[in-house]
Amino acid sequence: MINIRDISIKCGHCGGYQTLCAYEPRGEWNVYTYECENDRCDPAVTRTLVEVPRELDEFARRDPNWRGGGRHGAEGGPEAGNEGN
Ligand SMILES: [Zn+2]
Repeated sequence: MINIRDISIKCGHCGGYQTLCAYEPRGEWNVYTYECENDRCDPAVTRTLVEVPRELDEFARRDPNWRGGGRHGAEGGPEAGNEGN
C-alpha cells in the first residue's frame, strides 16, 4: 500500500516542500496535485502531479469523496473502501 502522506514532494525550482492541494480520481489512478506555497514559485509552472494506482492508495480509501483543498482526515471513517481486502 501507498500512503501519499508518507511521500515528500520537493520542488526542483525553489527546493521547498510542496503542499498537497488537490486530489482527483482518474480511472485506475488517483492523481494528487502538489504546489509550492511561497512567493518564489508560480504554481502553474512548478505544480507536481503524483499518480498513485488506485488499488494501492491507502490514503484515498479512507475518504474516497475527499476532493482536496482542505485538511484531510477531519471526516471519513475507516468504513470506506475495503473492497478487495
Ligand atoms: Zn517551488
